[in-house]
Amino acid sequence: MTYYSLNRQAPDATFEEAVVKGLAPDKGLYFPASVTPFTNDFLNTLENLSDHDIAIQTIKQFVLPDIPEKALEEIISDTLDFDFPIVKLNENISTLELFHGPTMAFKDVGARFMARCLGYFNKHNEHEVTVLVATSGDTGGAVANGFLGVKGVHVVILYPSGKVSNIQEKQLTTHQQNITALEVDGVFDDCQDMVKQAFLDEELTSQLQLTSANSINVARWLPQMFYFIFAYKRLKSHHKQISFSIPSGNFGNICAGMMLQKLGLPIHHFIASNNANNVVAQYLHSEIYSPKASVQTISNAMDVGNPSNFIRIQEIYGNDFQNLKHHLSSFSYSDTMTKSAMRELYDVYNYVADPHGAVGYLGAKDYLKINPDTHCVFLETAHPTKFLDVVEDVIDIKLELPEQIKSVIDKEKSSIPISHYAELKSFLLSCS
Ligand SMILES: *Cc1c(COP(=O)(O)O)cnc(C)c1O
Repeated sequence: MTYYSLNRQAPDATFEEAVVKGLAPDKGLYFPASVTPFTNDFLNTLENLSDHDIAIQTIKQFVLPDIPEKALEEIISDTLDFDFPIVKLNENISTLELFHGPTMAFKDVGARFMARCLGYFNKHNEHEVTVLVATSGDTGGAVANGFLGVKGVHVVILYPSGKVSNIQEKQLTTHQQNITALEVDGVFDDCQDMVKQAFLDEELTSQLQLTSANSINVARWLPQMFYFIFAYKRLKSHHKQISFSIPSGNFGNICAGMMLQKLGLPIHHFIASNNANNVVAQYLHSEIYSPKASVQTISNAMDVGNPSNFIRIQEIYGNDFQNLKHHLSSFSYSDTMTKSAMRELYDVYNYVADPHGAVGYLGAKDYLKINPDTHCVFLETAHPTKFLDVVEDVIDIKLELPEQIKSVIDKEKSSIPISHYAELKSFLLSCS
């Protein structure tokens, strides 16, 4: 597969180049040059195939020939060694649980897939790659876990001090080896700005092979397609039309679902469910796209003021506003509404949701009001114990900690505090 830059000022790239660079030299996001839709035969017989085989068929065209099929099979087996269950709440609403991986966030799949791709490319390579990543919470833990011990890769994670949950912080600051956590005096957008500045800094990029592990990286973005096709497979025989409500921050996850629709998977509609950070909802309303500083909410992994993948979404729908509106709705919810949704899910369905999943549930409900004939799947993107304080407080229960969480909670935090770009830069230069 060839990838082009959405800024259209850079040469095309192979999959390997796109993964290693992260962002194109003209600072554009990479986008696949052509896609071959699924065959009807594949779609009609999905339910007879294993998740593993479906994943291979879904992603193969995007990574071949840079990663040959045999190696890809190993990467997929390694990446997907946990479950993706659907829990049906009622006739119209189900949730797809994406939190059964090692850090209990849906980002595990993308992080593990990308780490293994880089590991594959680095097998015969002497130069270390530095993965630089800004996190609003869950990315850091998933990336740290996914990349731990991968040869030739040093991971540097920037996170906003005091703005991630205790468990999230433990998940990203308690690894050693090739993982470093930088604790930034600021908000997520400050972290993201510093990362962007580093990629633009020629003094740095001439000395270090920098890449990103945010969802702008094609190797993190594309494996998220698996969720939607797994859900489709599980629900296909029961429902005519399936729509997805995706709790969205940087819009990488939802954008992967949209690629799948481009490949021919019959997804009826997408609902971008947002907290107070509602740039896209406002855009769909006014046709004016105005990024803003992010505001802090209880669903902090979605506290994003300028979603980096939105440009890919516009590309998918041909930069046509009406076309986009036809496929995408977006709703925004306050923390108060999110909390009542968590209570409702518990009281009515005996389901414990985390705040992000609860936002997804609200989006599903609102969409069903205008479109009662669809079956709506909301993605539950994090295990509720990752937001322990909020969840226990809102629904007044004591949650049992799963093994994955217990194993980090008592570990010692280790982070390097920084407050300015200059400190990030000198740290990176000291590693080169
Ligand atoms: C990252 C994250 C999101 C947002 O995902 P995007 O792909 O950035 O839109 C939602 N929920 C949780 C729990 C997350 O960690």
